[in-house]
Amino acid sequence: MTIFTKIINKEIPADIVYESDSVLAFRDINPQAPIHILIIPKIAIPSAREIKGPEHAELLGEMIDAANKIAKEEGIFEDGFRLVFNAGTNGGQDVYHLHMHLLGGRKMKWPPG
Ligand code: AMP
Repeated sequence: MTIFTKIINKEIPADIVYESDSVLAFRDINPQAPIHILIIPKIAIPSAREIKGPEHAELLGEMIDAANKIAKEEGIFEDGFRLVFNAGTNGGQDVYHLHMHLLGGRKMKWPPG
């Protein structure tokens, strides 16, 4: 179990900005941009490496829909934003519960670090 399961179960607090039956989104505790929100499935998939298109397509679609909705609410939709999945050690993943970073409110750099 990861800390994100505890957030889903409301065992530890988080600044939740969106919730549906299958998806939860909350503000990152250590923001890397003016807007930094994590969008996670409620089911415990460890990382993007375990995503299977046929099985998880609807869930991934919901996560992107949530990101677009939140970006509009946060006022960063028109200017643009970045969606990131870190996967595994070299990807810089720290929490092994699938999460999509929604980053915005400033111009992002490329290539990423
Ligand atoms: P990653 O490095 O892709 O696994 O991202 C994990 C993210 O989770 C980091 O950006 C952390 O700042 C964030 N994080 C860790 N614990 C919490 C928490 N309790 N509430 C909100 N964000 C968290």
